[in-house]
Amino acid sequence: MRTLFLFIDGLGIRAPAPDNPVTAAICPTIYHLISEQAVPIDACLGVPGLPQSATGQTTMFTGVNASQYMGRHVEGFPGPSLRTLIVSSNLLLTLTQQGQRVCFANGYYVESVEEIRARRFKSVTTVMGLTCPQIFCLREHLLANQAVFHDITRASMRERGYTGALVTPQQAAEHLIQIALAHDFTLFEFFQSDLAGHSRNFGEAAETLALLDAFLTPVFAMAREQEILVVLTSDHGNIESILASGHTTNPVPLIATGPGAEQMLQGATSLLDITPRLLSITGTQKPANQAWLGDTVCPQI
Ligand SMILES: [Zn+2]
Repeated sequence: MRTLFLFIDGLGIRAPAPDNPVTAAICPTIYHLISEQAVPIDACLGVPGLPQSATGQTTMFTGVNASQYMGRHVEGFPGPSLRTLIVSSNLLLTLTQQGQRVCFANGYYVESVEEIRARRFKSVTTVMGLTCPQIFCLREHLLANQAVFHDITRASMRERGYTGALVTPQQAAEHLIQIALAHDFTLFEFFQSDLAGHSRNFGEAAETLALLDAFLTPVFAMAREQEILVVLTSDHGNIESILASGHTTNPVPLIATGPGAEQMLQGATSLLDITPRLLSITGTQKPANQAWLGDTVCPQI
């Protein structure tokens, strides 16, 4: 079975309102998925205050309540304590150790993993990726359309010296599905939704959601044809309340379509459920490639 995990930063669930761009007919696929298929899950994790990225994402990718571990919600990039938690065990590392073919589909516009390692500020997903660095996609993968840039179109890649063509959301979706078909587990992270939420600018939020929708619509359609399990969730609310000054305490959507979707969704209540469920659905199953070496050389599988 192949799994595609879409992590959309800063997307909560909220009733339609004039300041909720998610329900404003800008992003019909996202709206439909949230209003008709999503299980609302808690991102506050029993800790007072507004949920934040470093602790929310660490919880999502480790299955450990990082907000309780820290005694507070931690924003931005994970510090030493959270990094220790992420490095000790995380979703992608566990899948890799099980012999699954794992890909972090976000392409880094760099030559080598060492350039990623040398960055001073590293996101949760970057810290996680560095525990199993073969999952990274670099410049060569982007140029071969074997990775997707975080902004979908590569527009902001030009600031890094890229002079090639932009890609359409449809093309980026095709690239992502090809990656998902070539791996057992693929992760794609989109964080411009959180940045747009922080802008408190309805027009910017609308533009970002329209772009994301134009990407997700073909992603879900192609994944359905190819029988790929697609799981989508977020670390905390933000963009669904565009006038709020920061994140929200709204629940976030847990969406799953395709084989294993029911198992992913049934009874899920918080970010703590993401990693254990993904591991129980995908991690214990034999990788899709029948010629996989684990058949003969990995007796523990
Ligand atoms: Zn944020």
